[in-house]
Amino acid sequence: MFICENCAASYPTETPRWRCDCGGALNLEFAARFDRAALQGRAPHLWRYAEALPVPFADAISLGEGSTPLLPLTGAWGNAHFKLDFMMPTGSFKDRGSAVMVSQIKRWGLTDILEDSSGNAGASIAAYSARANINAHILIPAHASAGKAAQIALYGARLSKIQGTREETLAAALEAAKTMFYASHNWSPYFIHGVKTLAFELWEQMGFRAPDAVIVPAGNGSLVLGCRLGFNELRNAGMIDRVPRLIAVQAARCAPLARGWQQWFNEPVPVNKSTTMAEGIAVATPIRGRAVIAAVRETNGLFVTVQEDEILAALKSMAATGLYIEPTAAVAPAALTKLRAQGDLDPADTVVVELTGSGLKASDKVVELLGARQSSS
Ligand SMILES: *Cc1c(COP(=O)(O)O)cnc(C)c1O
Ligand SMILES: [Zn+2]
Repeated sequence: MFICENCAASYPTETPRWRCDCGGALNLEFAARFDRAALQGRAPHLWRYAEALPVPFADAISLGEGSTPLLPLTGAWGNAHFKLDFMMPTGSFKDRGSAVMVSQIKRWGLTDILEDSSGNAGASIAAYSARANINAHILIPAHASAGKAAQIALYGARLSKIQGTREETLAAALEAAKTMFYASHNWSPYFIHGVKTLAFELWEQMGFRAPDAVIVPAGNGSLVLGCRLGFNELRNAGMIDRVPRLIAVQAARCAPLARGWQQWFNEPVPVNKSTTMAEGIAVATPIRGRAVIAAVRETNGLFVTVQEDEILAALKSMAATGLYIEPTAAVAPAALTKLRAQGDLDPADTVVVELTGSGLKASDKVVELLGARQSSS
């Protein structure tokens, strides 16, 4: 069943639907199970947690996603485990969500779908649609990284570049959604059920234990919601004792969730965003914002905002250890450095830093960043 977060209305999942008639976001009524003993014999992809996924493995549209490395690294930031989710089939963690969401769309028998994105979700959904023989129409802002646009076009999706802000792209998508199924990764509960496999992998890779804290970037907040859902399911099944603190990171130039949390609101605060190199999280009006703030509070976590110079410094220090991530992904290690400097993390705590996207798809933006630095020095 789909259950509306807003009015508690329910709908059967046999029929395609992306939101409630009241306009609210939908969740799934679903009981996850875990078979620890069976894991050993299974392939290293996210469908190894089949009992905990709302789509049967037999119906999986897969590109081998999941089981990314968890790398312990010591540096200026102290000790931390880095989750290399940029090593996914399309170069971002979005493949976790897309794999499960597109598999369900295929089960529904849809042949044409619509999606809007800052770039990575569009590339991911285009790839899985190609794999599933579904026609995808992807809308992205005209200023999105060239690598992401090229990727979407090459996968064979119909690509529309929309002039203006990410919000104008959203408005164009809602207009087009009147005539085509809106496969929005921000609305779909299947997407969040895919992203939750991040929690399962951390649990398994840490020897069937949960870390003390997980640091994730937050735009619309699918990583926050996915981690909350995944760790809650593990706890409810008796696999872990407690859910880690969720530490969500926003760019200071666009921080509606962090501002809402800081001011003890239950909702994101409207912001006038300015341009940030963290294009993947420059979301002024997060769709499930209320739930994201609640998830951070519930886990005794916190929000951190980072400035552009802190993001750039983290991008470089990651590269200096051999990890080429995209600027958006650098907000998480930037937050770790900041929290350690402020003494906000117990040195004994096991901390995971989620690295969400590959630098290779944003190389045009990295070239710009390096160019700006050289001409100003
Ligand atoms: C989409 C994205 C994020 C943020 O995900 P949300 O669900 O919007 O919070 C972070 N990093 C990268 C690289 C992304 O593509
Ligand atoms: Zn409703």
